[in-house]
Amino acid sequence: AKAALNQTICFYEVSMDEAARGRRALANDLWEAVERSELALHYQVQKSVTTGDVIGYEVLLRWNHPERGLVPPNEFIPLAEECGAILPIGEWVLRQACREAASWDAEYKIAVNLSPVQLANGDVVSLVHSILVETGLDAKRLELEITESTIIDDKERALLTLRAIKALGVTIAIDDFGTGYSSLETLRAFPFDKIKLDKSFMSEVEGSPQAKAIIRAILALGHSLQVPVLAEGVETQKQLDILQAEGCDEAQGYLLGRPAPIGSVVGVRTEAA
Ligand code: C2E
Ligand code: CA
Ligand code: CA
Ligand code: CA
Repeated sequence: AKAALNQTICFYEVSMDEAARGRRALANDLWEAVERSELALHYQVQKSVTTGDVIGYEVLLRWNHPERGLVPPNEFIPLAEECGAILPIGEWVLRQACREAASWDAEYKIAVNLSPVQLANGDVVSLVHSILVETGLDAKRLELEITESTIIDDKERALLTLRAIKALGVTIAIDDFGTGYSSLETLRAFPFDKIKLDKSFMSEVEGSPQAKAIIRAILALGHSLQVPVLAEGVETQKQLDILQAEGCDEAQGYLLGRPAPIGSVVGVRTEAA
């Protein structure tokens, strides 16, 4: 029995070791991903629920790893945040997205995800400013999406930074709303320009009266604060119908459009095209 136990422990240690090695290797590759041009941007449409008009596009990062193929962001963004590579990567995303959007023939907004690590880094305000100047993108076409965890860490500082970003004319959306524990506190502390209702609500809205009641309450909250609410993860017509009936402002999800490279997104032409 003891031998078997030892074996189990050894096996466990070896596999932990391999996992750690794998993560280290992936982290090393991450640092080089920008230079090797392995990163790409996909765009997912955001539409008005009432008119169906396109409002903008969320920018979603994709990593095409030479051996592993397409690595999903949920697998490499946390790693990039841990090892610091999110700073050059996030800067690349922001510059590339602003550059691409500036070349469109339509004035749609772009919504770029901003990591807490980027926000905590002192010069994010001047970075955003210089990228806007450099690319010529109108500040009001840029929205930054942040999650509540961004603010919780160092609240005072985070709020000052967000205010400075807003002063540039850039708008701020609160992402994954309804999943954190301090949602109301966050809303009270900062004048957000949009609330993005977490997609977990959409997956439950058809079957759960509770989910529907919470959506209704968040919509009422947003509207009394005069902040538009966008529902994420809309996959079915039924969900969209419910949102329409409840007075939701905007929607995003596979039903309206999947994330795709800009070349295949309908409605946007680049200067090159
Ligand atoms: P997120 O910001 O909440 O982005 C929405 C995610 O939902 C995207 O996953 C999108 O592809 C997915 N999605 C869109 N419509 C639907 C739908 O109808 N149903 C379902 N089930 N999912 C839908 P993705 O692209 O895999 O990104 C995952 C997360 O990675 C993002 O969540 C965001 O937190 C992070 N991320 C992506 N790009 C960036 C980036 O450039 N910078 C940073 N810091 N984070 C990013
Ligand atoms: Ca987002
Ligand atoms: Ca989200
Ligand atoms: Ca998220």
